[in-house]
Amino acid sequence: MLFTDEHELVRKSLRTFIDREIEPHADEWEEARIFPAHDLFKKLGNEGFLGLTKPEEYGGAGLDYSYAIVMAEELGRCTSGGVSLAIGVQTDMATPALARFGSDELKREFLAPTIAGDLVSCIGVSEVGSGSDVASLKTTARKDGDDYIINGGKMWITNGIQADWMCCLANTDDGPAHKNKSLIIVPMNTKGVERARKLHKLGMWSSDTAQIFFDDVRVPQRHRIGPEGAGFMLQMLQFQEERLWGAANSLTAMDAAIDATIAYTRDRKAFGKSILDNQVVHFRMAELRTEVECLRSLIYRAAELFLSGKDVTRLASMCKLKAGRLLREVSDSCLQYWGGMGYMWESKISRMYRDSRLASVGGGADEVMLSIICKLDGLLPGRS
Ligand SMILES: Cc1cc2nc3c(=O)[nH]c(=O)nc-3n(C[C@H](O)[C@H](O)[C@H](O)COP(=O)(O)OP(=O)(O)OC[C@H]3O[C@@H](n4cnc5c(N)ncnc54)[C@H](O)[C@@H]3O)c2cc1C
Repeated sequence: MLFTDEHELVRKSLRTFIDREIEPHADEWEEARIFPAHDLFKKLGNEGFLGLTKPEEYGGAGLDYSYAIVMAEELGRCTSGGVSLAIGVQTDMATPALARFGSDELKREFLAPTIAGDLVSCIGVSEVGSGSDVASLKTTARKDGDDYIINGGKMWITNGIQADWMCCLANTDDGPAHKNKSLIIVPMNTKGVERARKLHKLGMWSSDTAQIFFDDVRVPQRHRIGPEGAGFMLQMLQFQEERLWGAANSLTAMDAAIDATIAYTRDRKAFGKSILDNQVVHFRMAELRTEVECLRSLIYRAAELFLSGKDVTRLASMCKLKAGRLLREVSDSCLQYWGGMGYMWESKISRMYRDSRLASVGGGADEVMLSIICKLDGLLPGRS
């Protein structure tokens, strides 16, 4: 992937924004276990960061997908992973299907103000009883006149406490599980939507994660994205962007952890020399760097194919799988070389260790990625 001066400009201005608007507050937001999404998203919207790849007619910049990769990568610099995750939900997880398949009316009502930073969005797929097995979800949206009546609930919803609307996957009929679902925009202030609780997590503390219940929530049928029954397929497409975003976002986080570890171990002395001067340590840093660069190449390749309109389900799944595993390896190895300092709650490396553990679980666990790759490669039992 060839990045131009324009890409570098976006990268640089986002870096300036992160240093000015996010990093000075990161510790405070971690402690508060929430960050002011409306305030921060408005600032991001004002600078055009929430719609880099979205159509210009809805306030986006109309740039190609390579700019989404640049933004995801750069956000990985945030030392509070929760803030960067919340922004990714807004740009690459809750809005791609709306931007591509929503009606003009729906895009004017929800996409345009989301790009402007006036509305906060969330994506509602997972439920208490169905995370990995998306097809088995139980939330229903039954027709009643021109409306849907939604009942059920969603679990582990990022931005769920502060969101103004949810891109919700629900069963709109009783047919086969891959053909009975629709993506529906649910305004979160609708009667019957209950933000039941803010969940307490291992990491990603600055990101609010909610359990949501729907009790006879009435939403107009015109809030449906795309054709009825196409929701599962549209969500699988939307997952491609979510997974590429997550993988690209991991790159700079890992680079930063390796940089910080090199700096720390260079200064820190034991047995009369720098910790870094032990071959086992500097070799390990070089090994991790190599792995990160390999992942970067895979992501850029997948992004290029996605850019040219190809289905990248297989490569995006590989990127997500590798990113989740490598994040665990990098954060664990780096923390080791920080010794006792690394084990302290307030150290940045211990936060990265906690935050990054999500990558192998959220948005499809490693095993789900492996299942997708096996399915596409014809490796599942009983298939040639
Ligand atoms: C902090 C956080 C934020 C999240 N944000 C959102 C959000 O915004 N929106 C949303 O919809 N969801 C969100 N999720 C949910 C997330 O996507 C799910 O947790 C994830 O898909 C896994 O589902 P599950 O937790 O039900 O795990 P389960 O489906 O119960 O699976 C448990 C484990 O079993 C293993 N497993 C599963 N299937 C297989 C298999 N076929 N073969 C072998 N092993 C298998 C995996 O290791 C998996 O981790 C979030 C989760 C967290 C923790």
